[in-house]
Amino acid sequence: MRVSALVLAGVGLAVLGGAWWYVGRKAPPRWNVVVLTLDTTRADFLGCYGRPGDPTPVLDALAREGTRFDRAIATASVTPVSHASILSGLDNQEHGVRVLAGMCGYKLKPEVPTLATILQSQGYATAAVHSAFPVSAYYGFDHGFDVFESFEGVIQKSQAGTMSWPLTKLQRRSDETTRMVIDELAHLDQPFFLWVHYWDPHDTVLLPPPELTAGLPHTADGQLAASRELYGAEVSYVDSQIGRLFETLKASGEWEHTLVVVVADHGEGLGDHDWQFHRILYQEQIRVPLLVRVPGLASTPSVAATVSTTDIAPTVLDYLGVRAPRAMSGRTLRPLLEGRADAPRSAFADQINGYDLNAAMLTKRPFDDFLYAVVDQGWKLVWRPLHPEKSELFDLDQDPGELRNRYADAPDQALRLQKLLARHGSWVTTPCHTPEDPGLDRAAALQILEGLGYAGGGETVEARWGFACPEAPGRVVADPAELDCADGYLLVPSTAR
Ligand SMILES: [Zn+2]
Repeated sequence: MRVSALVLAGVGLAVLGGAWWYVGRKAPPRWNVVVLTLDTTRADFLGCYGRPGDPTPVLDALAREGTRFDRAIATASVTPVSHASILSGLDNQEHGVRVLAGMCGYKLKPEVPTLATILQSQGYATAAVHSAFPVSAYYGFDHGFDVFESFEGVIQKSQAGTMSWPLTKLQRRSDETTRMVIDELAHLDQPFFLWVHYWDPHDTVLLPPPELTAGLPHTADGQLAASRELYGAEVSYVDSQIGRLFETLKASGEWEHTLVVVVADHGEGLGDHDWQFHRILYQEQIRVPLLVRVPGLASTPSVAATVSTTDIAPTVLDYLGVRAPRAMSGRTLRPLLEGRADAPRSAFADQINGYDLNAAMLTKRPFDDFLYAVVDQGWKLVWRPLHPEKSELFDLDQDPGELRNRYADAPDQALRLQKLLARHGSWVTTPCHTPEDPGLDRAAALQILEGLGYAGGGETVEARWGFACPEAPGRVVADPAELDCADGYLLVPSTAR
């Protein structure tokens, strides 16, 4: 009786609250939306995430005006895969982008709705300005954009013997990108959806102006050395360029009705966990900065809860009062932004390096061929399906730097997270042999696959996967249909191995 009364009271309040919102706002706002994606940008290199020395005053000011998410998890640590989740609100197995280079699984299909396609259909002007090839039309990111300032190119066999793109040619520095954005803003109809992609910290091809790099470590032959300091200078330079963009929006009066999201697609190793680059799943790689600023909202300063970058698209649509044409795996962040109660979330990420023709890193990190991660209730599991004994479990609240693997000594948590992964079911069990893009060099791709051991005779795939229920890991079968697991199955090595 008491419970019913409470429930009724709750429903009544919800109805009243909804009515107030309706009367107060009449129609959903026609705000502009700006999504900035910062490639290869670690959260801990921003001042608002604790980096000393005032390295990012512009983003710090945005964080003060909006909300900083302290455990935002990207769905991958490779560019196109992670961006596909940011734009679509879908996990990797749903949007289908799994690799940077492959004969399939690299292209966002036109039928997958994104913020661009959805908002374009609602009458928004849509524009994208990019700083490097891995978010280009080659990867299917052009759909839904009226204006698409990106790069044209194709993946080809590289000197290193993998498939790659011309890194030194197909990128631009953040000052040039910002100049293009400002030009675009001058004649963009309103309301608009604008996606700007910055690239500078990804590599040292284009460096910040000399005054920002004076005094940084140099190599013996006088070149700037790749270092944490140089990486930090590149992050700071991007911050200064974002400042130019924000000033333009403020000067034109558009800032007051523009929803702003800043997020990174992934971080960078910089030597942590014995790795300089990305493509793995430790927190310095997938725990990304996420700042959300909603016009007129005195929002929660910071959110400690685990969220996913798949939550961004549903959040934007929620505030604009736009319905997605199909369900998204992400959930709106609105309760967290507005300080209301919210059910806990899990976040998932994976790296299908073993089928990625660009993943030269496998020669150095053979146990990182296939990585599936879940973050839930402060715990994180990184499952290595071909090397289960190398899997890792971390208590992120106690050990945010992931220095102590608890996989062997916390079996209850390991099993709990394995079941979440099993239920998520994001497994990839075959590389692609049929090219989706006629421009791709199929012979070269097959040769690389064969070299990796995945293609016997150039065509057939080695059967190497087995399947098992998380609660009965000893019973491995070749066909998951033979299993009757309570929570889905785990991908494991085949019994023949
Ligand atoms: Zn990236």
